Amino acid sequence: MAIERLVKELPSRRRADAGLVHAGQVHLLVVEDDDAIAAPLVEGLERAGFTTTWAADGAAALANLNGADLVLLDLGLPDIDGSEVCRRVRAESSVPIIIVSARGEESERVLGLELGADDYMVKPFGSRELIARVRAVARRTVPGTDVERPQRVGELLIDRRTRRVHMNGAEIALTAKEFDLLALLAEDAGAAITRQQIMDEVWDPHWYGATKTLDVHIASLRKKLGDHGLIETVRAVGFRLRTEP
Ligand code: CA
Repeated sequence: MAIERLVKELPSRRRADAGLVHAGQVHLLVVEDDDAIAAPLVEGLERAGFTTTWAADGAAALANLNGADLVLLDLGLPDIDGSEVCRRVRAESSVPIIIVSARGEESERVLGLELGADDYMVKPFGSRELIARVRAVARRTVPGTDVERPQRVGELLIDRRTRRVHMNGAEIALTAKEFDLLALLAEDAGAAITRQQIMDEVWDPHWYGATKTLDVHIASLRKKLGDHGLIETVRAVGFRLRTEP
């Protein structure tokens, strides 16, 4: 493997596009040898406002620990096993580690946590789930982290702590469900969120009512946002929050 492929620093310019201005203070070291997994992972994380360094094997991971606020660690690496990387990282640093692995057995999870990992995720997983976990771990472990600061998406400012939304400085009064819906779409702004995901997360997994409810809420949310086409319909899939004007 060419040396330049071992560590890839993606441009953080995308962060400004997504408008999540504050969370960018958290820098992630993404350790993953599979390009097909790493590329969308890094892209999703950058879109969510994190900066990243991508290491494609264990040696590159250990060489690039400096400056990382949090490490996402794949266990199946081509050179040094991920669990050994975890052990070596722990020997010299208390940086939070989230193990990301296809090995889902209970014993593997326990081992990972015993090695000093802060969380453990089993592949496959959705990027939104990962981002939520990264934020949760960062909130607990990165001093002064700003992950709960208001999120800016274009002209929108979404404050999850106070559950208030401003557009161009003017507050928009939303119902609880409308806020949850908007906050969910904003979690991975630019990405299509399926109707099922929305129903499961904003309503609840045991909701048996018609999904027409969702369309009614989308319509009222669009109306309140002034119908600037911010919430796009992704045909036969769901909806997406637009990130560019
Ligand atoms: Ca792997």
